[in-house]
Amino acid sequence: METAFERRAARAELLARGSVTVAEPLRFAAGLHRAQGRLAAAIRVLHADHSLCGRLEEDVSRFIGRLGELLRFAAEHGPPALADEALVRSEEDPVRSRSRLSGWWSGEVDSIQDYLSRGLLRPYVEVLAGLGIAPDRPHRAGRCPFCGGSPWIGARRAAGAGGAGGRADAASRLLGCALCGGEWPLGRIRCPDCAEEDPSKLPSFQSESHPAVRIEACEACRRYVKSIDLTLDARAVPEVDDLVSLSMDLWAAKEGFTRIEPGLAGPLIAPPA
Ligand SMILES: [Zn+2]
Ligand SMILES: [Zn+2]
Repeated sequence: METAFERRAARAELLARGSVTVAEPLRFAAGLHRAQGRLAAAIRVLHADHSLCGRLEEDVSRFIGRLGELLRFAAEHGPPALADEALVRSEEDPVRSRSRLSGWWSGEVDSIQDYLSRGLLRPYVEVLAGLGIAPDRPHRAGRCPFCGGSPWIGARRAAGAGGAGGRADAASRLLGCALCGGEWPLGRIRCPDCAEEDPSKLPSFQSESHPAVRIEACEACRRYVKSIDLTLDARAVPEVDDLVSLSMDLWAAKEGFTRIEPGLAGPLIAPPA
């Protein structure tokens, strides 16, 4: 059976073959998804032996010893900042490593400060999602209703079955979760971070070079989500296709906007004004 991780890896490889500028991050993403898929398969086997409960402090001891392969992959193939951090963490003692994971899990530390913990925990949470076990994490408005994860990508999908080719504004708008890989509908125009609803404060930006992509920004909190229009190309996998338009994230950072949740390429910190 083709897993979601393999599907993402295959899409990243396909896009990498067609790109010069972003081939490297796409190849990294493909390898990362494969390594995450192997970890998810191992966690599913552990669950068959003794059930997972969704509370990280109880479940983590079962899989913390298996994070080494993911860390080694990031240390060997990741962009320099991530590779350095992955190397440090692969040599850390388990107590320190547990406390880092639980700091991210509880929301004390976000993905801009610690982008690696999200990638390490994602296979565990996707396994929980497949089993229908709700992760015990803080939830707040604008976040994933299942796991409390942050929206790292948006998508427009044709509304209704067989609706391909429908106009984008008749499509349903969804947000994609960085942690469990799920999607949830964005009912009205609203900033997912600060809940601003005034349309004049919620500009969206497009670029001729990436017609399916929009930067949906908020002037109130200066954050944004990138959204991919799947009514133009239904083969896109939003979190992977995201990497093709990295130049738009660089543009947004230059304009002083910070992405609500970093994509696979990691945090792009806005330069000081
Ligand atoms: Zn989620
Ligand atoms: Zn906002």
